[in-house]
Amino acid sequence: MANPKKNKKVTGGESTEPAVTPPGPGSDTSFVKKPKLGPGQPRKRDIPEGLWTKCPKCGTMIYDKELDDNLKVCPKCAHHFPIGARERINALVETCSFEEMDAEMVSVDVLKFTGVAAYTDKLQEYTQTTGLKDALVTGIGRIGSHRLALGVMDFNFLGGSMGSVVGEKLTRLIEAATDKGLPLVIISSSGGARMYEGLFSLMQMAKTSAALAYHARNRLPYISVLTHPTTAGVMASYASLGDLILAEPGAMIGFAGPRVIKDTTQAELPPGFQTAEFLQAHGLIDDIVPRDELKGRLDYFIGFLMHGQHRLAASA
Ligand SMILES: [Zn+2]
Repeated sequence: MANPKKNKKVTGGESTEPAVTPPGPGSDTSFVKKPKLGPGQPRKRDIPEGLWTKCPKCGTMIYDKELDDNLKVCPKCAHHFPIGARERINALVETCSFEEMDAEMVSVDVLKFTGVAAYTDKLQEYTQTTGLKDALVTGIGRIGSHRLALGVMDFNFLGGSMGSVVGEKLTRLIEAATDKGLPLVIISSSGGARMYEGLFSLMQMAKTSAALAYHARNRLPYISVLTHPTTAGVMASYASLGDLILAEPGAMIGFAGPRVIKDTTQAELPPGFQTAEFLQAHGLIDDIVPRDELKGRLDYFIGFLMHGQHRLAASA
């Protein structure tokens, strides 16, 4: 039993040895040339990092360019990877139709927060890594023939947390939609209120909700799109107030996390709890829309919801 084992070990060692040793002087190897095994072996190890991404759901290695071309959706199992706010806007609105609002608005460290890391340091760090000024991009754009007010959150900026800037930019967007008589679409992705801003971030829940009430009073539609994850203060305010609530497949949506709920209620949670699919089955979500279908569906839904609006305007 010992011998075959030893042999196997030796064979394995030989195969990983790079075939770069040139034949010694005078040795005639021309007629015993073996197919070169060398290049085949190291090729696997030579894959440059950052070009491939492993799908967490099905384990497939996906070429990054292919992933980008596919709107960050796994081509094998349709797992939806996180997507940045700007990439999403580019994929949704008609080319050159997006006019960004309040692009220069930045957060202020009102509470002079210092903890494990100072708030100002965190803001600086995420501004550099994401190229964004805060966790939300807003503006007026066009999908198909419909002009709309569009707000898109970015989870990469401090977990998509809602602070004063997110709240203020959203409120201004909603008020602009109300003034211009436009439909509103907000695409959420957030861990909730921004703890660095304490009470100021919680006040954004009331402010955005009040602005939405005025928008609704003007009989204008608001479509809320929930993406992975949409939780806590964002879910408890504007994200759950849509006339139509859509979600991406497999998105985690809820208020508190499952562990907190389990500890509080002391009850077993049902399978699929807090997924988009579970919440659709229980009536909170109207439709689950894969990312590549979102543009077409928004075009359809806005056309449907604004139809009455055009008739009202015509009869006024
Ligand atoms: Zn996959």
